[in-house]
Amino acid sequence: MRTKVAAILTATLLTGSLLASPGTARAQLTAGDDLLAAARAGTSERLVSSRPSPAEVQRALVKIARASDGRVRLGAIGRSNEGRPLRLASVGHGPLRLLFVTQQHGDEPLGTPAAIRALWTLGVPDTPWQRALLKRVTLDVVVQANPDGAVRNQRYNHDPSATGDYAEPGVGYDINRFHNPLTPIADNPVPESRAILRLWHATRPRIVVDYHMQGRYVQPDGRETTASILWPTSPLVTDTTTSRQLAVRNYDAMTKLAGANVTRYPGGDYEGIARNAYGILGSASLLVELSELPEDQAEFQIRTAYVSMLATVQGAADGSLWRIDPARADTIPARGPSLPSATTHTEDAA
Ligand SMILES: [Zn+2]
Repeated sequence: MRTKVAAILTATLLTGSLLASPGTARAQLTAGDDLLAAARAGTSERLVSSRPSPAEVQRALVKIARASDGRVRLGAIGRSNEGRPLRLASVGHGPLRLLFVTQQHGDEPLGTPAAIRALWTLGVPDTPWQRALLKRVTLDVVVQANPDGAVRNQRYNHDPSATGDYAEPGVGYDINRFHNPLTPIADNPVPESRAILRLWHATRPRIVVDYHMQGRYVQPDGRETTASILWPTSPLVTDTTTSRQLAVRNYDAMTKLAGANVTRYPGGDYEGIARNAYGILGSASLLVELSELPEDQAEFQIRTAYVSMLATVQGAADGSLWRIDPARADTIPARGPSLPSATTHTEDAA
């Protein structure tokens, strides 16, 4: 006999099979699906601006923690080179651990307001949907992983003494090249990366999703890519099954629930990239890159990341994620060429 919670999940949550049948998805979703309802509610929750300062992030998180009656818990996993806290927000008490990371590149901000909105949706309302999810999963979010870069609107962290590969002399390090699990953490020169690696080892998340932003790209059919995704491609990752299932789950939710035009990100194999590193360590790992659309479409992009976050949490909680055919990931279309008129982003390789 199924438990009451399982029955609620089965009856009301968006399942993988529902997502896999686009013809019927809309009718069933508008019949009251909780994920869609949450997504709608989220669009009216403007807790921060689209490019929030660390102080704004802090105020929003404190507000959410208070409003959640303790369900959203705040902490820090360390400090940046300038002493800013690297903020951690956690929700849920289930055995299945998830980790989201936003804004490792300080000039790629939109994952941060999306995460704040997702934390509100998961932690503040207290309905059977939230209770069912939070019983099954514990979500940790490193919110704005590069606060020193965020205040400068720069890709790198702030470390004028930075030298060597993946460093910009006089500026700092590229945090997303310093997650190499083969390097002893004590030898890692980047405090933000060290803190995330230590969090991974302390929590051993089943899923890691890392939120970034890319330039602008056009498809052969003339449509613009609004987001790209990719799973680990390092040859050190021997089994990408769960990561590709995670990619398909995100592709379906972002396209069908958020209206995004999603392509496959052409990322590299280097093991210092978070997408590869946490795949090597054994997590289902995914990179999400929101395109740098004009400012008046920031809300659309925040919503895409927000839907990705909720769909990941729900797919993990109800188990539908692990029933997805991973081979569908290989059918996600390749990203097209740059939009000729677009300003190029600072080397947007994740
Ligand atoms: Zn990036």
